[in-house]
Amino acid sequence: MPYKSFGFTDHQLMIRDTIIGLMELELPPEKIEALEKASAYPEDAFKVLADEGWLALPYAEEHGGADATYKDMAVFIEALAYVHPGITSAYMTTVIYGGMQLARNGNDWMRGELMPELLAGRLKMAIAMSEPSGGSDLAKIKTRAVPDGDDWVLSGQKVYITNAHVADRLVVAAKTDPDAGRHGMSLLLVDTKADGVEIRPMDPLGRRTSLPNEVFFDEVRVSGREVIGQVGEGWKLLMPGLNLERLLLAAASAGQCLKIVELARDWAVEREAFGQKITEFQAISHKFAEMQMMTETARLHTFHVAEMLDAGENPVMETAIAKTLATEYNLAVADMGMQVMGGAGYMMGPIARLYADARVGPIGGGSSEIMRNVIAKQVLS
Ligand SMILES: Cc1cc2nc3c(=O)[nH]c(=O)nc-3n(C[C@H](O)[C@H](O)[C@H](O)COP(=O)(O)OP(=O)(O)OC[C@H]3O[C@@H](n4cnc5c(N)ncnc54)[C@H](O)[C@@H]3O)c2cc1C
Repeated sequence: MPYKSFGFTDHQLMIRDTIIGLMELELPPEKIEALEKASAYPEDAFKVLADEGWLALPYAEEHGGADATYKDMAVFIEALAYVHPGITSAYMTTVIYGGMQLARNGNDWMRGELMPELLAGRLKMAIAMSEPSGGSDLAKIKTRAVPDGDDWVLSGQKVYITNAHVADRLVVAAKTDPDAGRHGMSLLLVDTKADGVEIRPMDPLGRRTSLPNEVFFDEVRVSGREVIGQVGEGWKLLMPGLNLERLLLAAASAGQCLKIVELARDWAVEREAFGQKITEFQAISHKFAEMQMMTETARLHTFHVAEMLDAGENPVMETAIAKTLATEYNLAVADMGMQVMGGAGYMMGPIARLYADARVGPIGGGSSEIMRNVIAKQVLS
């Protein structure tokens, strides 16, 4: 592999090399192109990850997992995103956003029956928090679950829910006590086939192999055992996952940066203008220096916070910094890569897709503005 390791162990190098080998075999450029054009979920690649046991990576051994460290996970996600951002989203929605709730906070049914299905690749998941009235201000969601005997009746609307259209189960944030602010929110594990659930894929700029969706709940019956954790604990259950999510979003951006630099370099070293290679123009070669500096910085912050998390720290500020820098650098690197490639970069293909994919980084998973609020609060408190 061309990219260097940040003190990776032999085990982490094995993770990186195995994932890149496996995924490059399963997702060659022409297959990625076909999936992207069809806006199709990378089903085969996801199945390979399941068959080879990679869905188990982040979970504790007692839940059938491989007990990966944070740094193992960052290495894994960086490698996955280096091959294809879409398979990273597919992995994240089921294994991280959905599965972590089951493993960490689920009841016996969720852990005993659903987790084995998930690990085998037969249960796909998505997380449904954002609503049309706003995604940043999660405490203000309007989706409501009303008690009815032992059951709950769920009504409301979610938006931009990644991979809901292929999911079997959604982790849905709903108000169970609208007057209790954050303490009135619960997490419900909703069956996508249940009566009253309607899912409509949306039409995004990028990441087209893991589509976002509108999700409508019209008096959906949710049983008592489908409540994750305790009623009213939703906020408390979501918050501990934020460090891991931000770390992995940073790692994914770092992987995409590596791929963009490689694609742009491979093209530029062959391209000639005015009788010389374009890389001999300082204006072009300096763009590679800039792209490399941003890539290195994204990786540095990613693996730095991974090490802090593995050391048992709670680096709220540092994970927000890593997520913000890595996603913003990813976008800047994609922009420069496209500039280097001229018209060839602007035509729909690998670089144009990576550019479109990168644009969501500073929006999703806590926008850059929200991340700066988090960072400022930590500095000023
Ligand atoms: C491709 C994609 C996939 C997604 N997948 C999922 C998913 O799987 N599940 C899910 O629940 N959600 C998902 N989202 C939603 C995503 O989390 C939200 O888009 C994001 O949180 C921002 O919310 P919003 O779009 O409603 O913007 P808003 O919250 O309306 O914000 C609009 C603008 O105002 C800024 N802003 C808001 N509040 C503040 C503030 N306090 N200070 C400064 N600026 C502020 C924002 O940064 C943004 O620039 C996805 C979004 C996209 C685009």
